[in-house]
Amino acid sequence: MAFNPIVDAEKCKGCEECVDVCPTEVFEMKDEKSVPVNAEECLGCESCIEVCEEDAIVVEED
Ligand code: SF4
Ligand code: SF4
Repeated sequence: MAFNPIVDAEKCKGCEECVDVCPTEVFEMKDEKSVPVNAEECLGCESCIEVCEEDAIVVEED
């Protein structure tokens, strides 16, 4: 099972909560937006979805 976290840059407000909560450091901030630079490390825990108040993150299952 592979997971694919995606950030909607239009919705992201740059709070960095997802960067802090992700156990596998999937996200990095670029130009004040969260970018899933290590998407292949995603465990599918959905902690980032829960912490994002902007509903900017979805995690797809492949
Ligand atoms: S938690 Fe949501 S709003 Fe905050 S940086 Fe991450 S994607 Fe952006
Ligand atoms: S689902 Fe979990 S492991 Fe995957 S990006 Fe979100 S916080 Fe990180």
